[in-house]
Amino acid sequence: MKLIKIDSILMILLFVLNTILFSILFTLKFDPFTGSYILAKPNILPEIIEPNILPEANTSTKSEINHSVSLSSKLHPIVKEQTIQLIQQTADNGIMIVITDDYRSIEEQNQLYKKGRSLGGKIVTYARGGQSYHNFGLAIDFALKTTSGKIIWDMQFDGNKNGKADWTEVVKIAKDLGFEWGGDWDQFKDNPHLQMDFGLTLRELQNGERPAKSTLTAEK
Ligand SMILES: [Zn+2]
Repeated sequence: MKLIKIDSILMILLFVLNTILFSILFTLKFDPFTGSYILAKPNILPEIIEPNILPEANTSTKSEINHSVSLSSKLHPIVKEQTIQLIQQTADNGIMIVITDDYRSIEEQNQLYKKGRSLGGKIVTYARGGQSYHNFGLAIDFALKTTSGKIIWDMQFDGNKNGKADWTEVVKIAKDLGFEWGGDWDQFKDNPHLQMDFGLTLRELQNGERPAKSTLTAEK
């Protein structure tokens, strides 16, 4: 009798342990560049962009955008607010965008820097940890999403068929929202990159300076 009781308790314990193990395994993603397992970042936004092919045709999804955006909590509140605005305003113009990256920790940046250097693949960044506005929650990267759900970096793509390249339209809206565009840089053009520096240089940020408190609430 006692043995059976212990057996059933053990079974339940094993079941619980299994469930925990599986949920951990499924959130881990193998990173071929580092050869290690990393916590899979949730693919940002596709679930809210998907139904938003033509916002006019499906107005119910528009108000939901605000609630379902899963941007990093480490993103500066204004950058976050303006990113949400960017997603909404581009959607209003029939353009779907995805935010492919936002906040990056120093370690994540250093790993990225290794790509195309000590690790295989192409060079993807010229910034080491602490040398990118991403490391201070002040930058985002975007890409376009086609109606078939493909994520593209095609700067000539005209998905809304208005005779203007969608990429250029997104950049214009972003600039109006206060973003600086990486495609405007002279040396290394970073076309998917948008940032807000709040008048602070990277050196100042590295020294611990942060945007003034008065800038912490987004202007409406
Ligand atoms: Zn970037």
